[in-house]
Amino acid sequence: MRIFNGLKNKISNAIQTLRSSVSLPAFLASTPPCSVSKYVGRRPLPYRAGSKACRCIARICRLFMVIPSALKELLHYPHNVAVISHRNPDGDAIGSSLAMQHYLEQYGHTVHVLFPSEYPEEFGFLPASEDILIWDIHTEECRQVLNRKNVFIFLDFNALNRIDKMGEYVKDLPGKRILIDHHLYPDPIADYVFSEPEASSTCELVYRFIEAMGDMQKLNPTVGKCIYTGIVTDTGSFKHATNSRVFRIAADLIDRGMDDTDVQDKIFNSNKIKNLRLLGHCLINRMEYLPEYRTAYIWLTRKDYETFDIQRGDTEGIVNYLLTVRDVRLAAFIHNQPNIVKLSLRSKGDIDVQEICRTHFNGGGHKNAAGAYSHTSLKATIDKFLSILPLYRDVLTR
Ligand code: 5GP
Ligand code: MN
Repeated sequence: MRIFNGLKNKISNAIQTLRSSVSLPAFLASTPPCSVSKYVGRRPLPYRAGSKACRCIARICRLFMVIPSALKELLHYPHNVAVISHRNPDGDAIGSSLAMQHYLEQYGHTVHVLFPSEYPEEFGFLPASEDILIWDIHTEECRQVLNRKNVFIFLDFNALNRIDKMGEYVKDLPGKRILIDHHLYPDPIADYVFSEPEASSTCELVYRFIEAMGDMQKLNPTVGKCIYTGIVTDTGSFKHATNSRVFRIAADLIDRGMDDTDVQDKIFNSNKIKNLRLLGHCLINRMEYLPEYRTAYIWLTRKDYETFDIQRGDTEGIVNYLLTVRDVRLAAFIHNQPNIVKLSLRSKGDIDVQEICRTHFNGGGHKNAAGAYSHTSLKATIDKFLSILPLYRDVLTR
């Protein structure tokens, strides 16, 4: 163990030295951050994608999540901490936020979890979910709480526009910022950045953060339950974005007393009859298949929202049914939410829906799961989606 820690320190020092010794040519400053995309420590490492330095650091960092000593010190003393995640929080956003809260409270920190908008009902079983502050609902209270904070932890998002108005507010507040996330291309919005797009989920990264802090004894069944929630939802119950480490983490959480069957039951057996009727409606009346592009999509109107009394989270997962068709490689779910048109894309293999969302819809996400919002009409959004398919014909039909 001593040898292991020694090696870890050596690597950590090497990274620090490398970082401070490389001065950045001007032309690199404007290139996107390195695509291997593992940044540890203060701000993203701005090395050119694929460069030697970038590959070397990525290799070293992938071995260990290295926590800078200044950050360790910061977290060892009680502070007033805000844990923030993205709009329309999903299982990973909620799980990682509450895991972080239950972990940090063991250090005596005062922690509040804040989201821009409400979370789906099925996650109400997670301990302390009832205390989460929602900007859309408790705006003034959120402002008051945020004013008192001196540490901000951003989880499961990497650009301030993902937290809307709360982002504009938080941007100017004094305090240290920590970002832990697994989406591509993080904006430089934090003092300490742990970004690993290859990770299954932010929850996996929170587990590894706690491990790297040397705090495994603080990983109790409550923290474990929250972490497992994000892993199981972001991997579609271990169907994608998995790796051997994720299974080891899940096994370790079970060894620590987390009841996996109970968590899966709470999350996935929480449907109401209306959810099944909505799914039937989508598959029978709202599904289109374009064999020439190996693409399928489902659309929902604002009227559908009323007819089926669709609430937050009710449409989660519907898009995945399209990918169960062997020939479908690209799946879209385009729905007219009460105030905005939402686009969710999913894909198989090499088809990069993150790039599609980013290039054509100002959105983002992951290679095989991404999303965006459109401020035009439902019809205009569908038409735009259909109009870009020819651009991807080769990759879709390869
Ligand atoms: P979903 O389609 O389930 O809303 O999102 C799929 C993935 O894309 C999630 O990781 C989510 O965080 C990300 N995502 C969804 N909408 C947006 C968006 O408007 N902008 C960005 N940058 N990412 C998004
Ligand atoms: Mn996530």
